[in-house]
Amino acid sequence: MSFSSLSLMPVLVNRLSQLGYEQPTAIQQQAIPAVLAGKDVLAGAQTGTGKTAAFVLPILQMLLADKVQPLGDNCKALILVPTRELAQQVHQSVEKYAGDSGIKSVIVYGGVSIKAQADAIKAGADIIVATPGRLLDHLRSRVMSLANLNHLVFDEADRMLDMGFRDEIIEVLKRLPKERQTLLFSATLDERIFKFSKRLLRSPQVIETSERNSTAAKIVERVYNLDANKKMPALCHLINKENWQQALLFSRTKQGADKVAAQMKQAGVNAAAFHADLSQAVRESVLAQFKSGEIKALVATDVAARGLDINELNYVVNIELPFQNEDYIHRIGRTGRAGKAGQAITLLSVDDEPQLIKLEAFLDRRLPQQWLQGFEPDLTQVAPVTRKTKKGSLKQQARQKALAQSKRK
Ligand code: AMP
Repeated sequence: MSFSSLSLMPVLVNRLSQLGYEQPTAIQQQAIPAVLAGKDVLAGAQTGTGKTAAFVLPILQMLLADKVQPLGDNCKALILVPTRELAQQVHQSVEKYAGDSGIKSVIVYGGVSIKAQADAIKAGADIIVATPGRLLDHLRSRVMSLANLNHLVFDEADRMLDMGFRDEIIEVLKRLPKERQTLLFSATLDERIFKFSKRLLRSPQVIETSERNSTAAKIVERVYNLDANKKMPALCHLINKENWQQALLFSRTKQGADKVAAQMKQAGVNAAAFHADLSQAVRESVLAQFKSGEIKALVATDVAARGLDINELNYVVNIELPFQNEDYIHRIGRTGRAGKAGQAITLLSVDDEPQLIKLEAFLDRRLPQQWLQGFEPDLTQVAPVTRKTKKGSLKQQARQKALAQSKRK
């Protein structure tokens, strides 16, 4: 299937071929015609599936078809995102796909000068890419109005709800025209999202490109069993000796990310932490260094890593499993982007076993476990707690309890 068969206009098709896109991804094949037909859409699509182009391309087409000079209040499309990083990434995608078509995108997020953003908005914007909090600041101070808005997009809606943006979103909605097209993209489609979407969408076309909670097809997942104190040496070994170009590592906490980055630096790996306690300027510079290849290992927290789009990222490592099972899917979706192969590796010590059991129940599949040569767990020190023995001992405990009760009777 080609992009032109999706009824995209030649200027956009040419732009995509300049970018080297040969054919639309699954989400693009389904979403582009629906959006162009003016429908509301509820789409379950993870990062890495090409979801951004799936909403940006048809919106660009509709704006180009109806192009008027953008003036103060002429913003026609609003894309709401949960984080600054995702805002930047989506804004860059809009600019990338718009090329020199004249469509203007303005980015709105907190942590940077409100004045510069207000000036950019006043200078005219066709598309605004915003995080909810800062957008509300601008709407309240009447820097802009969205009275003429035609298209509203929620990108990574599940994460927006996770981050507690519900009230802000509701307040933003009150300031938007009722007659509009609304598109909601979410990595996971669950009851919460369906409920939320009911307030927002009118007879939406529901699109799911892969099984619920399943991961992109080309990601190889591996779990290495090792002792907790061997995680760092194993990590440095993998990065240095296995010739990994670059890796994105995940830590549950900001402090953990700092610690791992410092230990890796000590071991001679150029690493940096990436989390919400760092200033926006530092985060941007770290990200630029990672993208340029200067930094080999980026140690991120879940919130900060959301929305990162790094091409050619072959390795994602879970130093420990995330608190939320959904985050496992978000994490490993950072690799295997747009059909490229990627590896997602989990370092698992005995303490992590309960979390793995929960994760496997959530994913409804087992994750293959193996030993890493040279870092095999010390079986003389710690009794291996396998699922089998664990289940067995639970059953045994239950039997003993039942026996004791029957004796008491
Ligand atoms: P996304 O899921 O929107 O974050 O996109 C993931 C990556 O895939 C981005 O780097 C896009 O530039 C790239 N991409 C999106 N659509 C295509 C396509 N049809 N062909 C090749 N690459 C694509």
